Amino acid sequence: MSTHGELEVVAVEGLTKRYGRRTVVDDVDLHLTAGSITGLIGPNGAGKTTIMSMLLGLVRPSAGRGTILGHDLSRPADYLPDVGALIEGPAFFGNLSGRGNLEYFARLGGHDRSGIPAVLDLVGLQGREGDSFSSYSLGMKQRLGIGAALLSNPKLVILDEPTNGVDPAGMRDIRAMVRRIAADGRTVLISSHLLAELEHICDRVIVLDQGGLRYSGSLTELPASRPEVILLRGSGQSDDEALHRMLSTQGLTVERRAEGFAVDVGEIDPAQLAGRINRNAAESGIHLVELHHQKQSLEDRVLDLVGTGSRS
Ligand code: ATP
Repeated sequence: MSTHGELEVVAVEGLTKRYGRRTVVDDVDLHLTAGSITGLIGPNGAGKTTIMSMLLGLVRPSAGRGTILGHDLSRPADYLPDVGALIEGPAFFGNLSGRGNLEYFARLGGHDRSGIPAVLDLVGLQGREGDSFSSYSLGMKQRLGIGAALLSNPKLVILDEPTNGVDPAGMRDIRAMVRRIAADGRTVLISSHLLAELEHICDRVIVLDQGGLRYSGSLTELPASRPEVILLRGSGQSDDEALHRMLSTQGLTVERRAEGFAVDVGEIDPAQLAGRINRNAAESGIHLVELHHQKQSLEDRVLDLVGTGSRS
């Protein structure tokens, strides 16, 4: 159980993987509550696949302890029947239909074939289930792969970069599908190297870089690494000079940038500050051609946490 009394489907601490002298996952804690969607975000080589592989018993952790679905991490066979995963691109028969492929995998896995229509519904392939796999878009192929992982009706679903290479419309379909999967009470762990692909669906994110945990928590609490500013510009050089004098005499922190003056918002309400500056400028006869509130985007906050280079 978590400190909030929610059931923890994954409660793992100190997860570590070393290859020789190289540590590729370093002391990572993972806490996933039932029914939540958690995004694992990090650049190439950050350790996302290795973490997922350790949870799935495909890679043996060098250190780490905890439970998955109440079973010990060191005994994957005990919890894997309730886990569905897409970790590499799905391998399907191109000449079989989507439904035909799911029937094949249901037989192979000993799952009840009567669940297939519900799975097709969940992954949004109803109406296209009779078409051959080779005619599917990449996004549809990924969704069918996730469908195969859902045949066992798992409680925990682990998806490694399912949006990789998928176009924006395909990504939107995958996001909608992930929401449906979690709405049924399943817990989802999904990775991406781009926050923007996941930010609208995740309850929490785990940001990784070079195997280390950089942030774990809700997106709303993701720390800003640069101050919020009001950005403004006068209509010409003399307006700009007057503007600079006016802002400085008001005791505001002002930075001159290529795109104009950046006034540090600090603890002040940004809308109030912008209104005040606008009024004062008008009273001083300064003509503003630009005045807007610039907040650091979530993507920029993550990029500042991880740097931008890939390291695979
Ligand atoms: P990507 O977005 O590229 O998939 P990732 O975040 O999933 O990256 P991992 O695939 O987990 O990263 O790899 C993390 C690091 O571990 C990389 O530097 C990788 O080269 C290294 N690594 C992974 N598997 C092995 C292995 N079997 N032997 C040695 N190093 C490995």
